[in-house]
Amino acid sequence: MSLGADLLALQDLDLELERTTKELQELPILSELAKKRATYAKLKSESTKILARRKDAEIAVGDLDDAERSCHEKIAGIQNKQATLTDYRSVQDLEIELSLLAKRLDKIAFDRPAAEKSLEDIKQKEDQLTGYIKRFEQAILSDAKTAREEAEVLQGRIEASRQKRERLASKLPADTLQKYEQTSRRFKGIAVERLEGKIPSVCRTVLQTASMDQLRHASDIAECPYCHRILVLNEGE
Ligand SMILES: [Zn+2]
Repeated sequence: MSLGADLLALQDLDLELERTTKELQELPILSELAKKRATYAKLKSESTKILARRKDAEIAVGDLDDAERSCHEKIAGIQNKQATLTDYRSVQDLEIELSLLAKRLDKIAFDRPAAEKSLEDIKQKEDQLTGYIKRFEQAILSDAKTAREEAEVLQGRIEASRQKRERLASKLPADTLQKYEQTSRRFKGIAVERLEGKIPSVCRTVLQTASMDQLRHASDIAECPYCHRILVLNEGE
């Protein structure tokens, strides 16, 4: 291949490398995965909150159980004492105490359904959330696998292009390669243009007769008098 053809091939490889690298960085599944991970983090924090609410609801029901047990114990104690008492005042005191305990038991019985319903509701929500989180974990795992596979394909392509580029670059004279790389940086990757008739393929400025005459004396490549890119005059095999 001519020097000009090599330079054009090098530019094609560089552009392809840039495209593929960008494609790899912007894989749609990666942003999808990032979104899912963010949602997952929210779900986990929701799950921490609901766990705390469930514990509170359990404590509320537990407190009712304790209070009820304590009332029953007291009642049993009083009933034992009653059997041994004979004087009226003491019996009356115990009866007042018994009636207070009965009221307390009524209150506990009244509060219980709401406390139990609340615990039941929270448990149900917790179960739903746990199931949802589990499905999310599965989806994230499967997306991560797909992302890895898609990335591997692109990385393979990048690696192959890189090797080709290395081989091609090592064939070029050092000063030509240096000029290409400088020009490429300056023109964001489009360093080389072809001369098509009198018109360079990138800047599209028709060359004057004087410029054409000068170029006739050049070898395979020259510098475009207008945009200063590398101008390929001869691409011949
Ligand atoms: Zn030009």
